[in-house]
Amino acid sequence: MVLSPARTFRCGLLTVETEYVEVSVKVEKLEVDDKENVENQKAPISARRRKSPIKIEYDEEPDVKTLHKDVKKAVKRIKKDEWEDKSTEEEMREVCHLLSEYYGIPRKRTQGDSKNACGRKRSILDACIAVILSQNTSNKNSSRASAALRAAYPDLNDMREADPSDIEEVIRSGGLAKIKAGRIHNLLTKVHEDYGETSLEFLRDKSVEEVKETLGRYKGLGPKTISCVLLFTLDKEDLPVDTHVHRVSGRIGWAPPTNSREKTYNYLNKTIPPDLKYDTHVLFFKHGQQVCQSQTPKCGSCPIRHLCRYPEKTNTVVKVEIKEDKDI
Ligand code: SF4
Repeated sequence: MVLSPARTFRCGLLTVETEYVEVSVKVEKLEVDDKENVENQKAPISARRRKSPIKIEYDEEPDVKTLHKDVKKAVKRIKKDEWEDKSTEEEMREVCHLLSEYYGIPRKRTQGDSKNACGRKRSILDACIAVILSQNTSNKNSSRASAALRAAYPDLNDMREADPSDIEEVIRSGGLAKIKAGRIHNLLTKVHEDYGETSLEFLRDKSVEEVKETLGRYKGLGPKTISCVLLFTLDKEDLPVDTHVHRVSGRIGWAPPTNSREKTYNYLNKTIPPDLKYDTHVLFFKHGQQVCQSQTPKCGSCPIRHLCRYPEKTNTVVKVEIKEDKDI
């Protein structure tokens, strides 16, 4: 019988303590120690409610890498199993209020008043082209490509009649020029074929669903692109979910944390009051960029910490034990 020493290691934001009592064993118990969280009333609700241990089985002593993987999986399972939507409209308004105090009140942009593709554009097609140009590149590169394209083709009809290879040359600074030139040219051509003009301005009077249905037919315009056009160009109440909005909303408990971006988009657009959608997008984007970052969220200086349900932010201790299996 071999006794291996206890050890502690970090797994993301978790501290994992392992205690191998006996190595010729089969059953591992993984428990989440909530003592600190129970004492700390600001701990996430999900952590305070957690009671039953989670079990995973090994035939032999796992190495640290395997433990890392399994602890992550277990935490994900905890998040999924225990998540329930407890956000209220009052809480949503409070979060937006606190973030507005921290980052400033979001203001609607006017034409040309934007450093990125989501700003207000001259026309719906201009907005679609700007978002195509912004795909997989920085704001700086896409803005440069956008300005060059508009300088070369001030009239969208000229752009439509141009050879895609000429468009490609003009937007080269934006990256993926061949693909983007093809998408832009295809969009303009198809719109002209469908409506007899190089314009989609008639969509301004349509409902959100009609706009989604129409724009969704064109290659290169995905759900996030369309949502940006709806919110920023058409002033419709729709909430685009980018990587920052997805992460922040999952962490604070407004959407299931294990949801895909698409599912979170559908979920939030049903639960967030329409008049909060613009502010939520702008504020969560800033919050995700500056404080609630992917790898190292700065929870200590977060203005909405007391309203956040992110289980890992309190440095939950996960205890791993291996004990002899009497049935062997
Ligand atoms: S920074 Fe921390 S406390 Fe703030 S929203 Fe993100 S996870 Fe929650």
